[in-house]
Amino acid sequence: MALVNLTNMLKKAREGKYAIPAYDVSDYRMARAVLDVAEEINSPVIFMGLKGDLNDDEFDCLSMTLVTLAKNAKVDVAIHLDHSQDFEMIKKAISEGYTSVMIDASQKPFAENVAITKEVVDYAHKYNVTVEAELGHVGDGIVGKSETNLSGDKGHEGTFTKVDELVKFIDETKVDCLAVAIGTSHGVYKGVPKLNLELMDELNKNSKVPLVMHGGSGTPEKDLLKSIELGMCKINIFSDILKGFFTGMKTFLNNTDNLSLWPSLAYKDAIEEMKKVIKEKYELFGCVGKN
Ligand SMILES: [Zn+2]
Repeated sequence: MALVNLTNMLKKAREGKYAIPAYDVSDYRMARAVLDVAEEINSPVIFMGLKGDLNDDEFDCLSMTLVTLAKNAKVDVAIHLDHSQDFEMIKKAISEGYTSVMIDASQKPFAENVAITKEVVDYAHKYNVTVEAELGHVGDGIVGKSETNLSGDKGHEGTFTKVDELVKFIDETKVDCLAVAIGTSHGVYKGVPKLNLELMDELNKNSKVPLVMHGGSGTPEKDLLKSIELGMCKINIFSDILKGFFTGMKTFLNNTDNLSLWPSLAYKDAIEEMKKVIKEKYELFGCVGKN
């Protein structure tokens, strides 16, 4: 049984100055690919379930898949609910074996974000489940629906995490880890994002808990490395592995006339390309051998 929560995993990452890539996985094949790579290089796994993949009985099916993989894994696996704004969904995730949840009330006023997060923390901690919240607001851009605009402009900075609020938020909510807004965005960047790394440094120095980056895909490597050096412990990745997956699939399908082939054959190149990206992130984030 290697199913664990995120708390200790992130504590070790913070002490060891590396980050754990956290992958949104939509189905068995994506999750299996992450686990295969992690077992090969002895790294911990963070599977994330995301709302778009959790409709109706998809929720139950994906939970069973992830829990089964975790229980049989050779490395530690945490199952994390990404970006939930719904307490009922959080309760369901916990009942189905998730060991970590994110409550995202980042678009609400500060006091409301505190109150909502605290309610989730009080509930989740009874089940030994880790809670991640978000303070400030990471730029939007839903994968597959829109492209995220270039961040780092003055308007965008209004949504960055404030140091005094971070201190107060952590004290009042007792949250376990915190997603901060320092200039990254979700989805696919149209330009090069401009991160406020001085702010990252200040936030980390004042934070009692490990910090989390959303919008890790497409962020320049030097900024990822500097963020990790400054204390970033969990970096969420989705768009980059999807790009690997569909690049492999497109190349394969464009080179075959047989569209009645066994699905596992059609997925083969896609999964290999995705695995390359998964491994690259583990290596870049200094997470190889850290299980
Ligand atoms: Zn996110």
